[in-house]
Order: sequence, then C-alpha cells, then structure tokens
Amino acid sequence: MKKLERKLMNIYELLLQEYGPQGWWPAETPFEVLVGAVLTQNTSWRNVEKAIQIMKKNRCLSEEGILKLNVTDLAKLIKCVGFYNVKARRLKNLVEALIKYGGMEVLGKLKTEELRLKLLAISGIGKETADSIILYAFEKPIFVVDEYTRRILTRLEMLDARKMEYDEIRTLFEENLPRDVRLYKEYHALLVRHAKEHCRKKPRCEGCVLIENAICKAKF
Ligand code: SF4
Repeated sequence: MKKLERKLMNIYELLLQEYGPQGWWPAETPFEVLVGAVLTQNTSWRNVEKAIQIMKKNRCLSEEGILKLNVTDLAKLIKCVGFYNVKARRLKNLVEALIKYGGMEVLGKLKTEELRLKLLAISGIGKETADSIILYAFEKPIFVVDEYTRRILTRLEMLDARKMEYDEIRTLFEENLPRDVRLYKEYHALLVRHAKEHCRKKPRCEGCVLIENAICKAKF
C-alpha cells in the first residue's frame, strides 16, 4: 500500500472509530436525495429537512409534483432554505432534465462520467451537487469534495486548497482508495462530521482524534 493510500485509510478508520457510521444520505428515496442535494447549497441540513417535510405535506416531493408547480409557488414552499427562487428554478431544471433523459432508472444505467456530464449540463448543478447525486442517489463511486474536505486536508498538509481544483482533489481520493460506494459515502459524511465537531473554521483541536494519533500536526 502506498503512503498516501495508507494515510487516507488511516484517517477514515480513526474518524469512523470516533464518530461511528453516519448513515448518509438521510433520505427515504433516491429522488429525495436529488432534491436535498439542491436544497442544501449554502444552508444547514436542518433547513433542508424542514423544506422536505413541507414538500411532502404538500404532495410535491416527486417529479410530477415539482413540475405542476410554478417557480413562485415552489419557492414559497422551500423558503426556509434561503435563495429559494434560485433553488426552485434549479429543482425544476433538474426535474425537466430527468424527464428529458428518460427518468432516474435510465440515467442510472449510464457510466458515471456520462451521467456526470448530463448532470453538469443542467443549469445550477455544479460539481459538488452533481457528485452528491451520483454517489448518494445513483450509488456510483465518485468522491464528493466540499469546503470541509478542503479545510481538513489542507490542515493535514495533504493538499493546498488554494491551489487545487475540485477534480484534482476528487481524483486524489479516488486514486488512493478502493472504488467502493459505501466507503465513499461514509468517508464524505465523516469529514463533514469532523469539520463540525472539531475542525471548524476556528478549530477545536483539543480532543481531536487526528492530533491524538499524530495524523495532524497543526499548531492552532
Ligand atoms: S488537530 Fe485541529 S486542525 Fe488538525 S484535524 Fe484536528 S481539529 Fe483539525
């Protein structure tokens, strides 16, 4: 095993030991994952949960449900997630594209790269959102990179977030970890958890499992 592979697995195992399985993505159906991935942009998960509940109550958490509403009415239902007009438009774009491509079942049969290109072609769907959808809704092995990933790995001196592009960081994980959907899902979720518990903007290094095991040498 190469040094980097060993280090990435070591981090994963320590975080898993510390926090346990995170059970991501918290959704009842793959379609709910899709909706959640759009709603969660720049907001807390608590707000997303609220919006999803409201959509369920109003029977519009489905392709047909979203299609039948106009952007203004959909935006009213998801107000609690912020940027609701933009997100309502994005949800409609996403659903329209799903239908154009033949639905989730048809899209699920595509190769990961092809599926990714189709998702990225939808207005308002960036790489992090597309990859979250591919990993958690379509269950294909792609590593999701977010601000938390950048922050933690930069502090571990494994990358320089200012210099590396999204896909370079994604590839770093994918080339040094087994291509395993379950591992990728859990790893991303654990990094998010760690960034919230310890590796915050202003880090709380005391009690951090990564410093206790000499993985992190940060001096904050
Ligand atoms: S020791 Fe501090 S900087 Fe390093 S990973 Fe832990 S919380 Fe982050």
